[in-house]
Amino acid sequence: MSNVNKFEYAPAPESAALVNIKSEYGLFINGKFVAPKSGKTFTTINPATEEILARVAYAELADVNLAVTAARNAFTKTWSKMPAAERGKYLYRIARILQERSREFAVLETLDNGKPIRETRDTDIPLAAAHFFYHAGWADKLSYAGHGSNPKPYGVAAQIIPWNFPMLMLAWKIAPALATGNTVVLKPAETTPLTALLFAEVCQQAGLPAGVVNIITGDGATGSHLVNHPGVDKVAFTGSTGVGKAIAKAIAGTKKSATLELGGKGANIVFEDAPIDEAVEGIVNGIFFNQGHVCCAGSRLLLQENIQDELLEKLKNRMNLIRIGNPMDKNTDLGAINSAAQLSRITDLADTGDIEGAIRWSPNCTLPTKGFWYPPTIFTGVSQSHRIEREEIFGPVLSVLTFRTPQEAIDKANNTPYGLSAGIWTDKGSRILWTAKRLRAGVIWANTFNKFDPASPFGGYKESGWGREGGRHGLSGYLKGQY
Ligand code: NAD
Repeated sequence: MSNVNKFEYAPAPESAALVNIKSEYGLFINGKFVAPKSGKTFTTINPATEEILARVAYAELADVNLAVTAARNAFTKTWSKMPAAERGKYLYRIARILQERSREFAVLETLDNGKPIRETRDTDIPLAAAHFFYHAGWADKLSYAGHGSNPKPYGVAAQIIPWNFPMLMLAWKIAPALATGNTVVLKPAETTPLTALLFAEVCQQAGLPAGVVNIITGDGATGSHLVNHPGVDKVAFTGSTGVGKAIAKAIAGTKKSATLELGGKGANIVFEDAPIDEAVEGIVNGIFFNQGHVCCAGSRLLLQENIQDELLEKLKNRMNLIRIGNPMDKNTDLGAINSAAQLSRITDLADTGDIEGAIRWSPNCTLPTKGFWYPPTIFTGVSQSHRIEREEIFGPVLSVLTFRTPQEAIDKANNTPYGLSAGIWTDKGSRILWTAKRLRAGVIWANTFNKFDPASPFGGYKESGWGREGGRHGLSGYLKGQY
């Protein structure tokens, strides 16, 4: 008798030899890799094995000064003078190189981040290339984008990104900035700098004029120097709500404009008439994709009370099939947690679920002994006051609540300081529209979850941020409209 739970996959590891990781990386300033002024470096590790991958330069104020000056010179002397169609050609060139080198990028991202190769190969890198293709098309059509007949770039954009989608977040930042005629100083997160540094090589390969893109590596102090630099015209930040608030305070009263893409606590609402099996797939995708390190994760499941037993049984059966382990294995569903610090944040916050009386369940799975790992976890018996329901865990942990009426679902879904994403599962189109109209979330998926497209604007309400990225709306963050 066959038993689907016993079905085993043979390991299918991707080869790490596809990427040539240097032992040490400098800062990418004015088209060249240079040593940091202080000579300080830090290491980046593979979170699945704890092995050191490379030493990376640590940028201090003197380095930030150089990078901002390079970006300013490139803006005034080259980039703002170049015909828009020519700018677009560089973006196309970068997009094509990303496609050509996609395997290399996917492997490097998986090694540095811990996310499964299946996701970097099929999602992160193709979407990053798609963002460059999409924005390449806009470069010479900005006067048709609805921001006036002759919209102008701000100048120098300071861009700071998190570690959960390093290359994709870089593309969300750099592609629209360049298409609209801005130059860039970008700082990747301290635990995932390597794909941004490989992207610097792509800029060289594409012949991008020196200084148009500068990549500086470092931590929060480096980011703070960048945000506060007087030579910066625009700040684009993706990261936690706490740091987003600090940045908003830091630039208040200055000439700097900002877009902030912050945290989330998305509600995934399943009505009684939903296609249950599809909803289960959507729930799994919503919270376990990328180890739950997803700002728009469906981390709060709202179930109509009368389907809760059936759905939870199916969800647990499905979770029993999640394959956890080596992120380089093409069969792996759930990879490593990105860092020891994030693992301890997830562990501490999930533990409050136990302390506050929620009921924890995880499949019986064996976690690797080296590296940072957390099992897929659901909590039932959760109330709206529990910390696991209110705070962003940013890990593979789902809180389950129930509701009886559609209005109760709306009230519970909106009862959060965040407003980034939501999902609706129902058979009825009219119910999708009724619900979506009442949800305070920037992105709402219906009968699907975690679908992204460069043409579709992404962003939040409330403490999930300011502004939109992607689509025509996202261009406005980089343009001074002239109406
Ligand atoms: P984080 O805020 O700690 O760090 C993000 C980046 O900001 C890093 O590069 C970090 O070095 C830098 N930074 C830290 N302190 C800074 C300061 N004072 N000034 C300037 N820069 C500073 O966030 P994280 O832990 O790396 O990322 C997880 C968070 O990002 C989650 O809250 C998640 O929801 C959010 N996120 C949001 C989106 C979105 O589009 N809304 C997308 C991805 C991640």
